[in-house]
Amino acid sequence: TQRTFSIIKPDATKRNLTGKINAVIEDAGLRIIAQRRIHMTEAQAKRFYEVHKERPFYGELVETMTSAPVVVQVLEGDNAVARYREVMGATNPEQAAEGTIRKLFALNVGENSVHGSDSLENAAIEIAQFFSEADIA
Ligand code: ATP
Ligand code: MG
Repeated sequence: TQRTFSIIKPDATKRNLTGKINAVIEDAGLRIIAQRRIHMTEAQAKRFYEVHKERPFYGELVETMTSAPVVVQVLEGDNAVARYREVMGATNPEQAAEGTIRKLFALNVGENSVHGSDSLENAAIEIAQFFSEADIA
């Protein structure tokens, strides 16, 4: 069993989609073992997306992620990192498969409703940025 880190992004919280997205996550066999709603600061968003700081959309990404509250989550399950990537669908919702979160709910590549860790190593790093072990059950 693995843990992965998820964010329900501002475009989704603004449209009141937290419950619907959580239902897709749970129906896929992933367990939400920690969850908190926060309004990310610019510093938090910059740190979180540091790997993308040279990409042309970095400024826009930080702005979008701080535009409204997000829900940060820890998900647990068999093969959770890859499984959640599968459940999220492609980064660009136009390329996302039927039934995926991004196909169902995302607006465009910048407002694509969810984040999920891309490796087990990054999952641990990302979880530690928002949760302490005492928050996770
Ligand atoms: P995430 O890291 O959010 O789970 P991802 O791994 O599918 O998504 P990345 O390549 O890591 O995609 O990009 C991080 C985020 O940056 C994307 O989720 C998206 O919101 C935003 N992004 C990626 N490419 C673009 C783009 N061309 N224009 C605007 N925003 C983009
Ligand atoms: Mg990514």
